[in-house]
Amino acid sequence: MNCCTRPVPIKFVCPITEQIIRDPVRAPCGHVFDRTSIPTRKICPIDFGFLRESEMTADVILAGQISDYIRTKDRLCTSCKLNRSCNCLIL
Ligand SMILES: [Zn+2]
Repeated sequence: MNCCTRPVPIKFVCPITEQIIRDPVRAPCGHVFDRTSIPTRKICPIDFGFLRESEMTADVILAGQISDYIRTKDRLCTSCKLNRSCNCLIL
């Protein structure tokens, strides 16, 4: 089955990139982003607080949940597994 028909759980989606988070980090404001998106956008898009890489903490629990989700073969199409910019991950 193609995952394009299944919604990705919102907590697995980075508010900045709007794609599945691969390396989740939690900001002091409580929001979670993909680590790679922080240098590109230094403001939280939800509460407009400053995002500083030094204040980010890795969210290992969410990282585990996301890797389980990605590993589940019937949830992600080949395109998503190979290409993180697959359109079906954009909400
Ligand atoms: Zn925030």
